[in-house]
Amino acid sequence: MAKESLFEGALRQFNKAADLLKLDGGMREVLSTHKRELTVHFPVKMDDGSVRVFTGYRFQHNITRGPAKGGIRYHPNVSEDEIKTLSFLMTWKCAVAGIPFGGSKGGIKVDPTELSESELERLSRRYFSEISIIVGPTEDVPAPDVNTNGKIMSWFLDTYSMNVGHSTLGIVTGKPLELGGSLGRSEATGRGVSIIANEASKYFLGDEIKGKTVAVQGFGNVGSFTALILEQTYGAKVVAISDITGGYYNPEGINVKEAFDYATANKSLEGYNKAQKITNEELLELDVDVLIPAALERAITAENADKVRAKIIVEAANGPTTPEADEILNSKGIKIVPDFLSNSGGVTVSYFEWVQGLYSYFWDLENVRSALEKIMKGAFKDSVDMLEEQKTDMRTASYMVAINKVATATRLRGIFP
Ligand code: GLU
Repeated sequence: MAKESLFEGALRQFNKAADLLKLDGGMREVLSTHKRELTVHFPVKMDDGSVRVFTGYRFQHNITRGPAKGGIRYHPNVSEDEIKTLSFLMTWKCAVAGIPFGGSKGGIKVDPTELSESELERLSRRYFSEISIIVGPTEDVPAPDVNTNGKIMSWFLDTYSMNVGHSTLGIVTGKPLELGGSLGRSEATGRGVSIIANEASKYFLGDEIKGKTVAVQGFGNVGSFTALILEQTYGAKVVAISDITGGYYNPEGINVKEAFDYATANKSLEGYNKAQKITNEELLELDVDVLIPAALERAITAENADKVRAKIIVEAANGPTTPEADEILNSKGIKIVPDFLSNSGGVTVSYFEWVQGLYSYFWDLENVRSALEKIMKGAFKDSVDMLEEQKTDMRTASYMVAINKVATATRLRGIFP
């Protein structure tokens, strides 16, 4: 049997919720079909004078509730299937958080570590010009994702602004502060994951996450801020962290601030010696209260799901659990908070940034943090209410909340003409 694509897997989970909602065939087709799918092949001049052709994507899944919204990633494994799936998830992420956006995603198939700074800039600017035919501040608003950051957002903003003839703050989010970024945006996804992890601990384990053991897989923007905030703000005991160089385990608790500073200074955790070295696989199988996969998709699969011993999984990456693994974990009674709920803090603060840019008035950090907390707690509660009403799993409950919102908006608008 051919391996199920990422999108087929996501659709299977969507359909489980759609069945419970008794969504009719037409509506189901509308909500599971992408609005626009753009693939671009474009040339980039390399520093040695040669030319290379790269492939990029921008997919918009749904724009019923507002402009499309979603990050752009640079990774050698970027594929049409991945971008299609992640743009689909963005629709549900924005809906479950209740922010007025649809879903999109973009990416370039490239290993950015092989490029010089100037090659990276030419690649970014050319890609953004290519997708400019469908993005815009009221059409589709990109943001950082895997291997992209504020510097790349600045080039995107400049490329777009040069073409329209004026600075357009609303074209991207995740910008540097000096260029219309929002306070609290870089930490936002990790802060949101931490808020959700604490809510999940209270709901599923009966108590705050304070003192509970946590393992975080991945130490990029999301994983590092999640570990740091869980330790510093919520008093959790982070016993393991990891990155591409492997896992780092200390049953007494890792000093996350120290590891964070180490990784910032050394660009990875390689050589961090205040913990026992383990593998990424071993980290996923640790006996902890809360496991947080914060790296890439397909970390927990049918092969390792049976070995997972955590009580709760809070998905911080997009798509870290395959549908088969999901079923195994559910049958073991492990509670899973789905990606599009737990990591919606990033796009939520992106929304705040977009709003601030549109009216050119900027909020202070306390304002951003308290507005984020309110949205995350509200989204968690909506899913829990659905969970109790439907007696299903958390992913299906969150899907039901999100699908309901987009289906209702679609019904209210009607079908044109
Ligand atoms: N890339 C992030 C995500 O997957 C943020 C998207 C955004 O801010 O638009 O949620």
